[in-house]
Amino acid sequence: MTAPRWPGGARAACAFTFDLDAETLWMARGVSEPVALSQGRFGPVEALPRILDLLRAAEIHASFFVPAWVAERYPDALAAIVGGGHEVGCHGDVHERVTDLDGAAEEKILLRSVEVLTRLAGRTPVGYRAPAWQLSERTLGLLARHGFAYSSNMMDRLVPYLHDAVDGASVVEIPVSWVLDDAPYFLFTGQRAIQPPGPVLQGWLTEFDGICEVGGVANFTFHPQLIGRPSRFACLRELVEHAKRTPRVWIARLDEIAAHWRRLA
Ligand SMILES: [Zn+2]
Repeated sequence: MTAPRWPGGARAACAFTFDLDAETLWMARGVSEPVALSQGRFGPVEALPRILDLLRAAEIHASFFVPAWVAERYPDALAAIVGGGHEVGCHGDVHERVTDLDGAAEEKILLRSVEVLTRLAGRTPVGYRAPAWQLSERTLGLLARHGFAYSSNMMDRLVPYLHDAVDGASVVEIPVSWVLDDAPYFLFTGQRAIQPPGPVLQGWLTEFDGICEVGGVANFTFHPQLIGRPSRFACLRELVEHAKRTPRVWIARLDEIAAHWRRLA
């Protein structure tokens, strides 16, 4: 139906992305209680090394979105991510919602996160994922003006697209979905039951296959503190194996997908 849009004759693309929120996931909810914060620490301390091992064994390069506070608190984690050939993108400072900020504060936090990640990752970040996937009216304009290549926030398509240009610069959108995120199923805040991993994995496999059928991009969003628990890590391993053995799927980092899409546009 549609012409091939992906490199190497691939019919679809797939990205494994990880939001390394650590304690900021809880701090942003006003939580300061030590046990709750320790759930966040599980991400960089316990889960991240195993995730990096899995990606290395599968020869997959992923995209990690890291709040500036987390990068400064866990510089060794950031170095390990970069050392594995993975991309690091911006994800706020302490996971603040940009909808709560005025324009000056939003821009200041964006520039601080660029400065911190550039210093600690050794490369200027080109991608932006907003904490909690909430943008302000200004966010896309700020990204364009500050030279970002892509946003990975919107939920309106199964394929990437270009946002309208601002001051002559345009940002590629690589859409996401709550369906392909682990948080709606596995984040426990004391209010609703944790979902059993098996049915969640089945849903992800079916969604992945469906996105491949229409030639889209399966853009998975995981949180190391959630997906790193052994029962869910087994799901991640199964998902990686399924994606790898599915024919003609381009598994790539989001910065690579954005660069490809911009060449097509
Ligand atoms: Zn986050």
